[in-house]
Amino acid sequence: MIISEDLDTLRKAISDLKQANPDRTIGFVPTMGALHQGHLSLVNMASEHSDIVVVSVFVNPTQFNDPTDLDKYPRTLQADINLLEQSPCDILFVPSEKEVYPHGKSDYEIDLKGLDKVMEGKFRDDHFKGVCMVVERLFEIVRPDKAIFGLKDFQQVAIIKHMVQERNIDVEIISAPIIRSSKGLALSSRNSLLTEAEKDQAIHIFKTLEHAKALVHDYTSASKLQKRLLDFFNEGNLKLEYLEIVDNQTLQPTETIHSGITCCIAAYCGSVRLIDNMQLA
Ligand code: AMP
Repeated sequence: MIISEDLDTLRKAISDLKQANPDRTIGFVPTMGALHQGHLSLVNMASEHSDIVVVSVFVNPTQFNDPTDLDKYPRTLQADINLLEQSPCDILFVPSEKEVYPHGKSDYEIDLKGLDKVMEGKFRDDHFKGVCMVVERLFEIVRPDKAIFGLKDFQQVAIIKHMVQERNIDVEIISAPIIRSSKGLALSSRNSLLTEAEKDQAIHIFKTLEHAKALVHDYTSASKLQKRLLDFFNEGNLKLEYLEIVDNQTLQPTETIHSGITCCIAAYCGSVRLIDNMQLA
């Protein structure tokens, strides 16, 4: 695996790998590091769909609205390298902030048609603008044919798909299923900030989602189902930010139960913010 910290060595590494056959395709997995099996499932998927696999590790400041959250975000580069060495990753790109944003971070605009105003958008101002800014920039640098994003960040996948259409970017976006612990907790870099007792409490998010899936066909009204789920959720020890049942395309709360709806939850376990989701129908 080649490790590259700047644009020039990245380009050279890619062109060396393409030398034998310039048609070799690039699959790209952008991450913020503190890698786990969820990330590795994306790396494996990238290698199934393309010839050369590039992974980036960059904790992107523009998508954090809370400076404390950015400060305490786990950074474990050596462990990440060790994990990726055992994976089909060909190139690890670990850029500095200057490399990603050589002209500063201020003048980025994109119309996300309201997809960014619901759920995460209500609680994390300009989060998705920051996500689009970094993904668009990384796409410019890496020039992938395909990029893999996890459905753990359900709203993010919809927004990235919208962004590539809006900007006419020729990258195929592939979504990957959520990887969970044996007890159901969605793997997340932030889980390393939880104690074992908190991890057990956090499983209540998954239990609520499973409950939603089991009950969905007993209901014709999504708001009535939501109410029932809120009661169930509040039996646990977590602080809810939102529990929404939304349409997969519009991301707007749905009132009808129909095919293509997903239940999304954001909640605090102690001081750690967790998100998870499950398609219900
Ligand atoms: P992050 O490092 O948190 O920015 O995540 C990088 C990518 O990994 C994103 O596309 C995430 O959706 C994806 N990802 C994170 N956790 C999981 C998981 N448990 N299962 C599947 N994909 C995940």
